[in-house]
Formats: sequence, C-alpha cells, structure tokens
Amino acid sequence: MIRDQLADVKKHIPAHVTLIAVSKTKPIEALQEAYDAGQRHFGENKVQEMAEKEAALPEDIQWHLIGHLQTNKVKYIAEFVHCIHSLDSLKLAQEINKQAKKHDRIINCLLQFHIAQEETKFGLDLQEATSMLAGEAFKSLENIRIIGVMGMASFVEDENQIRHEFQTLKAIFDTLKVQFFSNQSVFKEVSMGMSGDYLQAIQEGSTMVRVGSSIFGIR
Ligand SMILES: *Cc1c(COP(=O)(O)O)cnc(C)c1O
Repeated sequence: MIRDQLADVKKHIPAHVTLIAVSKTKPIEALQEAYDAGQRHFGENKVQEMAEKEAALPEDIQWHLIGHLQTNKVKYIAEFVHCIHSLDSLKLAQEINKQAKKHDRIINCLLQFHIAQEETKFGLDLQEATSMLAGEAFKSLENIRIIGVMGMASFVEDENQIRHEFQTLKAIFDTLKVQFFSNQSVFKEVSMGMSGDYLQAIQEGSTMVRVGSSIFGIR
C-alpha cells in the first residue's frame, strides 16, 4: 500500500526534485516499508520522534527536520540530521553550529521564510534574513551550510494564492542567491510543496517537496 502510493507520487516528480517522505506520527513499520521501496529521505517535525526513529532504522536514511526547532533540542539530532529546514534565527544558527562542531560535522540548513497569510507559521522575512546573513556573527559560523530556503503556503483552497506564495519564496531564493551566495553552488534548494500542492510547487521552482499523507495516508 505505502509502496504503491510512494510509486504514484514519484511518477509526478522530476529527477531534479528531492522527495522527502514526511513520516511524522507514523510507526517504524511504515517507514521501513517506504525504505524497502527505495525511499531514503525522510522528514519529521519533532526532535524526539526523529531521534527514536533514527535509532531504529537503517543508517543510510537522510533525516530532514521540517518542524520548528527549539535551541535546547538541537543537541539530540546534531549527530545525524541531514538537513534542518527550519532555521529562522541567529540564535538557532549559533546553537546548530555549536552542536555540529561537537560532532565534527557541518549541518545543512534551509532558511525558513514566512510566506503564508496565517499568523501562526514560523519563519523569517527577506529583511530579517538579509540582516542576519550580512552580520559578522553569522558569517563566522563554520559548521553550518546554508543550502537554500523553505516555506509553507497558506492552508487555503485558492490555487492562485498558493501559487503566488510559492513565487514569493522563489523570488526570495533568487534575491539571496545573487546577494550572498553567487559563488556558492551549494545554495540551490527551494523546499516547498506538500501533498496538496507539490505539483504547483514544482512548477514554481521547488527542488524539495515534503510529502506526507499522499504516501503514508491521513494522520
Ligand atoms: C506535515 C508537514 C508536511 C507534509 O504534509 P502532508 O500534507 O501530509 O503532505 C510538509 N511540511 C511540513 C513542514 C509539515 O509539517
């Protein structure tokens, strides 16, 4: 069942786009089933849940933390996390850097932007990101690698609005690329698109889609 749903989603995803299977709330067996069908990128939104699953599943899984991350919890995932999608403050960047250093590694991060109408979503705006990236405190962090941007569209039916929000994130990516990362090939990811909107997200330039319920069923 998961195997079939995964295959169905994959059919719609071009080779240059990474499919992250969002497995939050799902049991180990469900992840193992997706793994056995070839899936290697998994996304979780809670630190403890991700750490427990990481310990129980094969080592070559690449773990993406897609939910809000509190600084005091970075230490639980620093040893293994492949990419943190929710970097939204200097304080968090400093903590990720510190914990990465302890494990002698560099952690990939995406800057999370607030592109939705809803008030509750976390994330930076362009001005906040610009001043963070320009600051000396940020530039001195050697154990984090900023590989792109992440955002969540509004939870609405209106396709035009969703499309507009994806375009906003892509424009932010393009602006930052020119301003801060023009000579860095690592800054190339635009993480946007979920089960309900990943096709539109890909049309608007997404390079990473985070798909949960279309693979694992409703939560
Ligand atoms: C849960 C979640 C997803 C996946 O949502 P689905 O609608 O189940 O595909 C993607 N991104 C984030 C940040 C999430 O929390």
